[in-house]
Amino acid sequence: MYFNIFNTPNIQKMEEKIKNFLDLVKERNGHEAEFIQAVEEVAETVIPYIVKHDIYHGKNILLRMVEPERVITFRVNWVDDTGEIQVNRGYRVQMNSAIGPYKGGLRFHPTVTMSILKFLAFEQVFKNSLTTLPMGGGKGGSDFDPKGKSDNEIMRFCHAFMSELFRHIGPNTDIPAGDIGVGGREIGFLFGMYKKLKNEFTGVLTGKGMTWGGSLIRPEATGYGNVYFAEKMLQSNGDSFKGKTVVISGSGNVAQYAAEKTNQLGGKVITLSDSSGYIVDPDGINESKLAFVMELKNIKRGRISEYVVKYPSAKFVANKTPWEVKCDVALPCATQNELHGKDADLLLKNGCICVSEGANMPSTKEAIYKFHKAKILFAPGKASNAGGVATSGLEMTQNSLRYNWTRAEVDEKLKDIMSNIHDACIKYGKDEKTGYIDYVKGANIAGFVKVADAMLAQGVV
Ligand code: NDP
Repeated sequence: MYFNIFNTPNIQKMEEKIKNFLDLVKERNGHEAEFIQAVEEVAETVIPYIVKHDIYHGKNILLRMVEPERVITFRVNWVDDTGEIQVNRGYRVQMNSAIGPYKGGLRFHPTVTMSILKFLAFEQVFKNSLTTLPMGGGKGGSDFDPKGKSDNEIMRFCHAFMSELFRHIGPNTDIPAGDIGVGGREIGFLFGMYKKLKNEFTGVLTGKGMTWGGSLIRPEATGYGNVYFAEKMLQSNGDSFKGKTVVISGSGNVAQYAAEKTNQLGGKVITLSDSSGYIVDPDGINESKLAFVMELKNIKRGRISEYVVKYPSAKFVANKTPWEVKCDVALPCATQNELHGKDADLLLKNGCICVSEGANMPSTKEAIYKFHKAKILFAPGKASNAGGVATSGLEMTQNSLRYNWTRAEVDEKLKDIMSNIHDACIKYGKDEKTGYIDYVKGANIAGFVKVADAMLAQGVV
């Protein structure tokens, strides 16, 4: 049914080729807005590269990459604390296994749909390729909302979810991890049920507890990795985090450790947020204030607005995002499409010089266009938040070796990986005339080449 849009590289104009490709993708997935958005961003940078490289012509390689290898949806029944039976929907999108077993997180959030998971799985393929580790891409989750649920309800849901998912995953097949709404507590419950059903103790999930197969630095890795990446970008301009004012969105796993590492590198973090609004603390969210936030969010499962009760000199701004606060560096670490064109305008007007995504696709297409136009440093999540999955890859290696590396060893490997990703972005994204580094282009092409070449080598499978 598909004509090959790369067979006649010189006849069609590039914009037409991209449009034709996207029309095909929309025809099949038109109702999946987030997935289309993620594909558009990749197509616009990768198609011109494909056109210039004969080995990819006539292979429909990008069309193959936008089609998941397998999608699983399933019913999840569980009983709440009042004895009522609840029904949720579970998913696993196994997107691409050309360079390794499927790998990617599980998200539990009421907004989870097939479109969200396909966009995340698609991005994951490129991200995992960038880490240099042998991991394919996948993503999964459920529309289950963990907010307000008791520990017992969370356990029953996780057990019910795994009682179906276990059939489709395994340490050499598909290795899920955490994402929004899935942290150490949930991974524990999921792992327990997998182990019981399969009667084997394997590295089938990452983000495990330290005493049962987890890796040191895994909880910190996404946030730390994002800051290591941003530091590399700043260094490429002869600059650093020292003395910089930093705004961060979110207050979950990624945001907390991005804040911790920013403080360690001499930056001053002044905001955090959740879905109810943001707090701004002009004195800086230092180590002890951050310890309060971690206890509030991870143990008490409270709201970020409670920060101002403890620290009255800070302010809570309801139902808004922190991009209106003046800063040098912005780290969006909450969720997709949380930073719009008008937010980019505000950041630029206030002198922001660097945006590094901790979340997946937090900036809209319009916002990215504005950052590029203003020639500021901008890192897409598939490069800058790859530290999490990279350290999951290191957890898999340690599980296979039945050995644990020290904190310093894992941190060193994480730093090296983030530095290598930065180099790969320069290789494919630097404009030789102006010197400007387009990290979106760099990350997309570097991620594409490795997966595409493996697919070519393996034939039509
Ligand atoms: P958490 O669940 O730990 O935290 C998510 C944070 O984002 C919370 O503060 C949450 O607030 C906020 N948030 C969620 N949805 C919205 C929304 N619609 N509007 C505003 N705020 C929102 O998740 P993580 O920190 O793990 O993940 C954050 C982002 O980082 C996601 O995009 C995820 O895909 C990405 N990521 C995570 C990795 C990891 O290792 N954990 C790896 C790579 C990427 P509230 O409590 O109010 O919901």
